[in-house]
Amino acid sequence: MDYDVIIIGAGPGGIFAAYELSKGDPDLRIAIFETGKPLSERRCPIDGVKVTSCIHCESCSIMSGFGGAGAFSDGKYNITNDFGGTLHSYIGKERAIELMEYVDQINLDNGGAGTKLYSTANASLKRTCMENKLKLLDAHVRHLGTDINLVVLGRLYDTLCPKVDMFFHTPVERVELVDGGYRVQVQGASYTSGLCIISAGRSGSKWMEQVCRDLDIATESNRVDIGVRLELPAELFSHITDELYESKIVYRTEKFEDKVRTFCMNPHGIVVSENTNGIVTVNGHSYEDPDRQTDNTNFALLVSKHFSEPFSDSNGYGESIARLSNMLGGGVIVQRFGDLIRGRRSTHERIGDGFVTPTLQAEPGDLSLVLPKRIMDGIIEMVYALDKIAPGTANDDTLLYGVEVKFYNMHVAVNGNLESCHEGLYVIGDCSGVTHSLSHASASGVYVARDILQKRNAG
Ligand SMILES: Cc1cc2nc3c(=O)[nH]c(=O)nc-3n(C[C@H](O)[C@H](O)[C@H](O)COP(=O)(O)OP(=O)(O)OC[C@H]3O[C@@H](n4cnc5c(N)ncnc54)[C@H](O)[C@@H]3O)c2cc1C
Repeated sequence: MDYDVIIIGAGPGGIFAAYELSKGDPDLRIAIFETGKPLSERRCPIDGVKVTSCIHCESCSIMSGFGGAGAFSDGKYNITNDFGGTLHSYIGKERAIELMEYVDQINLDNGGAGTKLYSTANASLKRTCMENKLKLLDAHVRHLGTDINLVVLGRLYDTLCPKVDMFFHTPVERVELVDGGYRVQVQGASYTSGLCIISAGRSGSKWMEQVCRDLDIATESNRVDIGVRLELPAELFSHITDELYESKIVYRTEKFEDKVRTFCMNPHGIVVSENTNGIVTVNGHSYEDPDRQTDNTNFALLVSKHFSEPFSDSNGYGESIARLSNMLGGGVIVQRFGDLIRGRRSTHERIGDGFVTPTLQAEPGDLSLVLPKRIMDGIIEMVYALDKIAPGTANDDTLLYGVEVKFYNMHVAVNGNLESCHEGLYVIGDCSGVTHSLSHASASGVYVARDILQKRNAG
């Protein structure tokens, strides 16, 4: 065998698996294969001047490369079992929290010291939410910020470099079973290992489906979250974000009893576009460094949809909606809330006249022509519900960017060790459908590394 362990994907799942393995047994021969670039080379060409919108790079620097989809994220590590994945249902709630706290400590030791840990415990907002038919989910949130997140990733890279062979610009094409292990096929070469950890994230979702078909690994459809990203003056949410930074608030709509929730809150942040397999959607992040902060706060409002019979392609449904918005707006569409409820499209003039200056150059348009009525109605209801706890949310000038789609990978059948039906083939992080956050994905990496180390020690 060329290696003891091959890891596919250098996102948080892969990085933390490699970190824990190399720490636990420095003699292990480990390789990481990654489609994208090393951290220092990752750069999105959108500069707001020469390149103002997504040019569909072959490998998206936002989604791929060392650090994975999380590299330029806001670096919010949510330590909770309430959201971010269902790791706890495989490994138990206590273990999941313990691993997330362990990851947090590693981040602190690698440049994150001094960053703030927010908590919903005893938050006055909890009661205010209840009084207004909203529910605040419990969590501790470590906010690294995009800048410190990159520092932490840089240090982890330096730690791993001498211990792990890293192959960048090297997408794994196929994973094959061989005697005593696995063979990964990359362009023009192949490598073998006794054990294989797949951590291909969201950008690797289509490829992961193929791997499961090739290796007869059972899968199940997952949900898709569809909605918009709101941007408004930071002052309107400061009483919430100053205390909690990130608050996950859930609302059940009166009309359809659908759940709408806030997601990925970025105080003083910026709205960004992202490209997943050629589909441009919206996202957001913010910097810890005050010099890079803006006057706006942004967060998503999402509605979950899950299809099973006779149509089961939840992601396909989300993709179609995103494609429709890309068709109408050439990318991300932005609309003032006042225009949305008056049934008219936004224009550059109306947005220019507004009191909220957009942080993303998106095409002014009409989101009601993109989102299904049921989802749009739910979002409008939620905006009015939030207006009760943060007056001003439903102002005419509040900006809505669309569409935001959270694609979830299908659930890959894994056991309590996150191991597939093939012994020694682990599937972790977002590509397993088990996690969808930095903290859960990282924790899943540590978890399988410990399982491997324990089995090696026992054997
Ligand atoms: C803009 C943005 C902001 C976010 N903000 C937050 C946040 O603040 N907090 C939070 O908890 N979560 C956030 N997320 C989500 C978070 O980044 C992911 O949940 C997390 O990165 C998942 O980690 P992962 O290791 O499972 O996968 P990923 O981070 O997606 O990494 C997978 C890696 O595998 C590589 N890969 C894929 N296929 C192959 C292949 N065939 N061969 C080789 N390599 C392959 C990819 O290039 C990628 O680098 C954000 C995501 C985005 C896009």
